[in-house]
Amino acid sequence: MFEKILIANRGEIALRVQRACRELGVKTVAVHSEADSGAKYVRLADESVCIGPAPSGQSYLNIPAIISAAEVTDAEAIHPGYGFLSENADFAERVEKSGFVFIGPRPETIRMMGDKVSAKHAMIKAGVPVVPGSDGPLPESPEDIIKIARAVGYPVIVKAAGGGGGRGMRVVHTEAALLNAVTMTRTEAQSAFGNPTVYLEKFLENPRHVEIQVLADSHRNAVYLGDRDCSMQRRHQKIIEEAPAPLISPRLKSRIGERCADACRKIGYRGAGTFEFLFEKDEFYFIEMNTRVQVEHPVTEMITGIDIVQAQIMVAAGQKLPFRQRDIQFRGHSVECRINAEHPYKFTPSPGRISAFHAPGGPGIRVDSHVYANYLVPPNYDSLVAKVISWADTREKAIAKMRIALSEMVVEGIQTNLPLHQELMLDSAFARGGTNIHYLEEKLAKQNRPD
Ligand code: ADP
Repeated sequence: MFEKILIANRGEIALRVQRACRELGVKTVAVHSEADSGAKYVRLADESVCIGPAPSGQSYLNIPAIISAAEVTDAEAIHPGYGFLSENADFAERVEKSGFVFIGPRPETIRMMGDKVSAKHAMIKAGVPVVPGSDGPLPESPEDIIKIARAVGYPVIVKAAGGGGGRGMRVVHTEAALLNAVTMTRTEAQSAFGNPTVYLEKFLENPRHVEIQVLADSHRNAVYLGDRDCSMQRRHQKIIEEAPAPLISPRLKSRIGERCADACRKIGYRGAGTFEFLFEKDEFYFIEMNTRVQVEHPVTEMITGIDIVQAQIMVAAGQKLPFRQRDIQFRGHSVECRINAEHPYKFTPSPGRISAFHAPGGPGIRVDSHVYANYLVPPNYDSLVAKVISWADTREKAIAKMRIALSEMVVEGIQTNLPLHQELMLDSAFARGGTNIHYLEEKLAKQNRPD
């Protein structure tokens, strides 16, 4: 096991990784920007290093500063968390070339999955079902593009190979709009991602977002830890996640789970990862793989009893996974609400000082949060202030427990989306389960709120 790990992140995930390290008896180095220097989790770490001013470009994305921090503190490995540099293959490579262990997959794997065209190719080869579409990048010839779209069938979606964060894609309903959409997406992709490659796939009209969590070691062992439903989204940002995904047959789930674990073995995957799928009419269609721990990993931990962050660290240290697929049992149901510092219905960010904070608790409630009363939410980063996670033996009870937890929770001084979550926990369609990825936006569009 490592003696010391540097955590190249901030906020709740920095604290989450720190807790995993402490349980494993590993010392921690917190790196932080000037905006985060007073945070409690920074003081709780064994050592801390300021890596730059508040803007993330100069701190949490500053590769030389992070590597130097690892050097001066004698850390052996770097955990990237999620966001920031976690899926940056160049960073992973620099970490390894500087003699540290990157807690994540090999840089080549990150690079392959970061390009959606090569990721899709790898999945087809590994037997994972993908959204039907162009076989690789779209060609230059307009006639060929038209032919491909006709074969796929309208509506189609034109997507940037290098896209991310829900950007760089365009839905096309008719042939008349196709070529213009391709040109515009190419131009946008070039300026936003430095890569003009685009591809095309069938646009699924009412899918759900269902994903499979995997864990793999460097000895070609790979398991799947079940599925999550993250369909409750706004602007492609997940707001509520749950495990397991409701109303999908166990047979379909184990089949797709096994395919994902098998794909990990085939591509020599290492660490924790997520295969993201759109799910429509009982079919799974791969859209992308996330090569890191995800915000919503706790719901999987709650139903499996497996600590995903500790497992990441153990396999990065070269250890074998301590369990096999048959050892993994799924128990009960878990729901996560992301509490963001934002207006509950206008979604404008609401940074500032938290004047009062009270976290809910009791059996089956977990709160992952780095904030407390008098904590200043900086305006520079994402707005997540807490994740409230509930667990119970049935979905209905997990939702009921969440309702009570949200009613106990107090965050004053800033605005949060707690009222939205409270409303959603009473929503009859959510209660039935299986709402699609457009449900939340459609519901919000129907509401006419004065403030
Ligand atoms: P990103 O990396 O930018 O998050 P994804 O490929 O994961 O891009 O797609 C983001 C979202 O865009 C999906 O969650 C889904 O809402 C929508 N989307 C992507 N591809 C399709 C498709 N073929 N049909 C319908 N919706 C899609």
